[in-house]
Amino acid sequence: MSQQFIDLRSDTVTRPSKAMREAMASAEVGDDVFGEDPTVNELQETVALLLGKEKALFVPSGCMSNQLALKAHTNAGDEVIMEQDAHMFNYETAAPAIMSSVQVKTIPGIRGIFKAEELPPHIRPDLYYMPKTKVICVENTHNRAGGTIFPLDEIKKLSAFCKEHGIVFHLDGARLWNASVATGIPMNEWAQYFDSVSVCFSKGLGAPVGSAICGTTEFVTKAHKWRKVFGGGMRQSGIIAAGALYAVKNNIERLKEDHEKAKYFAQELSTIRSFTVDLESVQTNIVLADVQKSGKTPNEVIAAMKEHGVLISGGTFTKFRALMHLDVSMDQVRYAAEKFKQVFN
Ligand SMILES: *Cc1c(COP(=O)(O)O)cnc(C)c1O
Repeated sequence: MSQQFIDLRSDTVTRPSKAMREAMASAEVGDDVFGEDPTVNELQETVALLLGKEKALFVPSGCMSNQLALKAHTNAGDEVIMEQDAHMFNYETAAPAIMSSVQVKTIPGIRGIFKAEELPPHIRPDLYYMPKTKVICVENTHNRAGGTIFPLDEIKKLSAFCKEHGIVFHLDGARLWNASVATGIPMNEWAQYFDSVSVCFSKGLGAPVGSAICGTTEFVTKAHKWRKVFGGGMRQSGIIAAGALYAVKNNIERLKEDHEKAKYFAQELSTIRSFTVDLESVQTNIVLADVQKSGKTPNEVIAAMKEHGVLISGGTFTKFRALMHLDVSMDQVRYAAEKFKQVFN
């Protein structure tokens, strides 16, 4: 996409900065299938330490990271519970069915959040003709709900519920960095309640490639084997791990700038009569706006704004989404908001 656009379609559109590219170019590398890439090893150790987990495994994508967790935690025919707008259910191409032969049971949430007290009717009794409830997944921040933060108190209760019922607790923490920076709650404090945690380097952190799946040594050993089966065994992957390592060392704290941009942008959009913005759900770097009052579809709004140099993307059937990231400045966000006000009212 040409540089003249203000690209708010996703926080994945960022390009590696000069300093990040330099770190990548000068990275020490080795064959990671032999476990000999020092940069990959450093990244994995750094992330494991940050999350307070025994081990972390570098993988090509967040999708692979989540799906490796399901594969390592389940057997064919098990059931996995997640919120109905979960990324793992909507945007991972039915991978739970394809890769792990598990059934997904979705439950409704409010802004992506569900509570332990709502779970009992969803847990399968131990009967031979029923699937086994094996894993419960949480997404934090919640992408499709607009970057909302899953409250730590609710996570604690869910974790206790899972322990009591012998259920594995997985966190899709693609944007856990954002939740951590927005709340001031450290990564390891969130992560301690989960058996496995996936984090992405290629979202707000601005690295070109990669995610990590984290947990106990036993769990990561299983995930490592499955990573090879899934085609994710990489050789001199230190060259990309260096981008991720640079991002972890340099780009976490600055996420608060993205959160400020999102608050400003949401506030401006909320003054436009054609749109409805739930300001309470704007907690991190994502802004969703409902366009029903404009009489237009999200795709029509997207096309109209593209004419004015502002790129946004489709969120849900009635909403578009705009994401803040390190390649868009506050001035550009102000400009984009002005353009919206010119085109819609
Ligand atoms: C982006 C994202 C992922 C990973 O998606 P990839 O396309 O594989 O990078 C997983 N979970 C959530 C919540 C995400 O936003």
